[in-house]
Amino acid sequence: MDANNGIYILDLNFLNEPFAIASFLIESEDGLILIESGPESTFSHLQQAIEYQGFDWRDVKHVLLTHIHFDHAGAAWKFALNGAKIYVHPIGLPHLNQPERLWNSAKMIYKENMDTLWGRMEAIEAEYLIPADDGDVIKIGGLEFKVLYTPGHAVHHNAYELNGAVFTGDVAGVKINNGPVVPPCPPPDIHIEGWKKSIQKIRDVQPRLLYLTHFGIIDEPDKHFDELEKILDDWASWIKPFFDAGISAEEILPQFIAYSQSQLLDGGVSKKDLQHYEYANPSFMSVYGLLRYWKLKTEGRFG
Ligand SMILES: [Zn+2]
Repeated sequence: MDANNGIYILDLNFLNEPFAIASFLIESEDGLILIESGPESTFSHLQQAIEYQGFDWRDVKHVLLTHIHFDHAGAAWKFALNGAKIYVHPIGLPHLNQPERLWNSAKMIYKENMDTLWGRMEAIEAEYLIPADDGDVIKIGGLEFKVLYTPGHAVHHNAYELNGAVFTGDVAGVKINNGPVVPPCPPPDIHIEGWKKSIQKIRDVQPRLLYLTHFGIIDEPDKHFDELEKILDDWASWIKPFFDAGISAEEILPQFIAYSQSQLLDGGVSKKDLQHYEYANPSFMSVYGLLRYWKLKTEGRFG
């Protein structure tokens, strides 16, 4: 994989499979810049991928995180220990300084699979954490990253624009090997209306390219976002009758898997890539997240 526009796409081989989680590496006059650290469980893969491109992970001086979910930020503390600055939205920042709550709530969901999936997460000292808020311009070694606060998937989600390329984290969805785009909808922050506003915010900067953490380059952003908005509405309205009828997540899950997998298969996804989609975007998380969205919306909690 060569650098495209000076951006190296690193495949973290999550669970020893390709195309699930990416990091992006950029050279600057002030050391290497990483967008997304991936989880701690893939740190050795990340090290190897950086070395494969001819660099040393210890030269990473800046890590820009789109949000603090483990698959995006779990290994950031390793870079901070080595002196790197970690950029994150102010709402997410305290959780990296004191990750116990984040860890414990994930542990309740993932239980004994926690280590295999995500590895360890240790606290990042405050001096290494840099708040990145909407409209900020992060200047690093001759490069300028514009911060786009883009909630909807997570309330502390940022995207970063660099020279017409936008690193979209999860707000531009998951799309693997030219399959359909799907929205990752884990609890607790899913907000469909807010998500669409964030999509509009990215459209407004008229990007040439999107870099998806799951997975890779999108060269027709508007078409991509049209498709994403459609399926975001589709999934939200698919689950609404189940929510209204008070059906449990456990009962909904097999039906949601059948529904979403048929969409993927109809979109030309191979059996093998179905698994990659599931690794990047676990179905049970989306069922929980969408149910929670309807609960909060029905209770009038979104104002
Ligand atoms: Zn993700």
